[in-house]
Amino acid sequence: RARNQHHHVVAYDHASHKVSRDNLALLGELRNAVGADQLRLHYQPKLLLADNSLVGAEALMRWEHPERGMIPPDQFIPQAEKSSIINELTVWALRSAVTQQSQWCAMRGMEQLKVAVNISVHDLMVPGFHDVVLQTLEQGNLDNGNLELEVTESALMEDIATSVDVLKRLSGANVIISIDDFGTGYSSLKYLDLLPTAAIKIDQSFVFRMARDAGSRQIVQAAIGLAHSLGMRVIAEGVETEENYSMLRDMGCDIAQGFFISRPLASEKFPGFSFQQQ
Ligand code: C2E
Ligand code: CA
Ligand code: CA
Ligand code: CA
Repeated sequence: RARNQHHHVVAYDHASHKVSRDNLALLGELRNAVGADQLRLHYQPKLLLADNSLVGAEALMRWEHPERGMIPPDQFIPQAEKSSIINELTVWALRSAVTQQSQWCAMRGMEQLKVAVNISVHDLMVPGFHDVVLQTLEQGNLDNGNLELEVTESALMEDIATSVDVLKRLSGANVIISIDDFGTGYSSLKYLDLLPTAAIKIDQSFVFRMARDAGSRQIVQAAIGLAHSLGMRVIAEGVETEENYSMLRDMGCDIAQGFFISRPLASEKFPGFSFQQQ
């Protein structure tokens, strides 16, 4: 099937049916960016709504390009996902987040934090990916339970059998699996039960609309009920306002993440984070 194409088709632009020169240049530079130490992870706090305590952080990649400045992930991750470069970026992100969390574990109050790394479906298709994750944890001297992997819903559906197999191995080893962008993919509800997921992340588009749109609010409420009935936790992302924050808490959502709590923080700023509710 199309699976292996991802590793061979470099910078082929499906929309225009021609290889984009710009994409090629960017991909070449991106491969170099790892070795040249131009990638950074920023960490966005996740709060437990029940008591406002800090429970984790999502690691979000940024590219400090020597000429173009700080490039956000939306501008290079999708291109990277069309080639095997994504696998190098993921391995780098895993290493870097695991090393970081292992240092934070030595600081008071931070040993329970779960650091979440975004994983692409192409990573799950690389043979031995679960070994790479577990070896990274061992080399970084971090408990498996301190690592969370966020996988998007639509990505999982590309090859559900392989996804389930790899994620089961990881969750069997105590790594936490979350479904990202929940509600935006095409997943059939039956897969939700098949996947060894500890949590779903409700997509920010629902959270943005929730305060003004009854339909979005009902979708969020239904997703919370569904997840809880399957024994999963619910994380809401894109929480930008106090109104959304208290609404989600009242609806029984477990964890919140968003600009209302904090923007993603450079690693050296993260330990100084404390939640100041206005
Ligand atoms: P995502 O995984 O859905 O991450 C959430 C995005 O929403 C982040 O954007 C975050 O900064 C942003 N965000 C957080 N709170 C709020 C809020 O309250 N309001 C608004 N408007 N936005 C908020 P970012 O960092 O630009 O990342 C964009 C996407 O790039 C991520 O979406 C993820 O799909 C991808 N990405 C980022 N880092 C990585 C990575 O290391 N590996 C992979 N494979 N993908 C990554
Ligand atoms: Ca994510
Ligand atoms: Ca998301
Ligand atoms: Ca997203």
